[in-house]
Amino acid sequence: VPGRDEDLDALTRRLDRQVLHSWSAQASLDPLVIAGGAGSRVWDHAGRTLLDLSSQLVNTNLGHQHPAVVAGIKAQADVLTTAAPANAVLVRGRAAQAVLRHAPEGFAKVFFTNAGADANENAIRMARLVTGRDKVVSHYRSYHGNTGAAIVATGDWRRMPNEYARGHVHVFGPYLYRSEFWATSPQEESERALRHLRRTIEAEGPGTIAAILLESIPGTAGVLVPPPGYLAGVGALAREHGIVLILDEVMAGFGRAGDWFAHTADGVAADLVTFAKGVNSGYVPAGGVLVSEPIAAAFDDRVFPGGLTYSGHPLAMASIVATIEAMEREGIVEHAAAIGADVLGPGLAALAERHGVVGEVRGRGVFWAVELVADRTTREPLPASAMGALKKDLVARGVLPMVAENRLHVVPPCVITPDEAREGLAIIDDALAAL
Ligand code: PLP
Repeated sequence: VPGRDEDLDALTRRLDRQVLHSWSAQASLDPLVIAGGAGSRVWDHAGRTLLDLSSQLVNTNLGHQHPAVVAGIKAQADVLTTAAPANAVLVRGRAAQAVLRHAPEGFAKVFFTNAGADANENAIRMARLVTGRDKVVSHYRSYHGNTGAAIVATGDWRRMPNEYARGHVHVFGPYLYRSEFWATSPQEESERALRHLRRTIEAEGPGTIAAILLESIPGTAGVLVPPPGYLAGVGALAREHGIVLILDEVMAGFGRAGDWFAHTADGVAADLVTFAKGVNSGYVPAGGVLVSEPIAAAFDDRVFPGGLTYSGHPLAMASIVATIEAMEREGIVEHAAAIGADVLGPGLAALAERHGVVGEVRGRGVFWAVELVADRTTREPLPASAMGALKKDLVARGVLPMVAENRLHVVPPCVITPDEAREGLAIIDDALAAL
């Protein structure tokens, strides 16, 4: 329940000056205070409530403070708060079982990590070990996390100041609205992006490439839902050349795109799948790698040279078990798919009709991007100043938004109700009108 303490907000802001914040110059920061939350809403100490259309960093899929998950973490804390990864711990096995229950066929084991970046880091390591090759091919329009190889596999601006890992090659993926391939239909975009990937693999030397690492739906880059045939084509190319296919489901998985794993509808079989965020709604830091049978077997008699003190941390594992069980019990994944199909999809399409500033709307489930343009014909992105003003205005109107470049990402918790989704759409409508 929100409180009414302005002083605590001031204290929070003052103490926060000792915190070095991610991805930003520190001097001009003015972070929002978050004191509490429930479901799709958060509030500060003074009781100012916001509808969270960001899911924080697109991770609170189950919403804030789900009672069953909080209870699961508390119950585990009473029994065993920590254990070294070398031990067998009941809750760890149960977490692996819960994740594998929803994995596509062919996955045998889970390697648990602290988050999404180190899940990708370890998936890349596994691919290099089983192929004896070095290179990793990924998309320019991607984010894979902020550790050694993951940040260099990343394609966006965050890679450039951090390029210390070797063996990374980037390609353009499909993005019909701003096609790199002069394509005019999803099919053309898919075929041409696949040709570009094939030619890159040939030019780099297929025998030098350990892995293709892709987000199944590139998220931070703009919710770029791949056109039909693209992921299946990537899978075929990987198989043809003995390349390990790693699909990054860190953002797209666990209900976000209206499915447990977003790529299952694409007719592609990955060798490794990375996850984090929605697996436990971020209540305790956790991530992992789903390992297919042959890759798991490769480490039966050979040492897997990787590990983390907190791999499979009991509190994280308890939060995973409780999250997945709550999602099953409450039909959360189906709910997210329905919210996308019945409310957010049609609602955002209506906004695109009403506001000339909307260039394109794309997504599914509770995973949407609204691309804003200064000019619909030239598709010139709306400038940063206008995006900043929009963000400020949305907060003033009671929505916690996620803004990335010239896009508004509409990514609420999977548990958002139809009424809350309509409330969010109405506020976006007003803010776009004011813009
Ligand atoms: N992969 C994807 C697709 C992501 O969106 C993110 C984070 O936003 C990561 C990996 C990195 O995850 P983490 O920040 O938990 O390390």
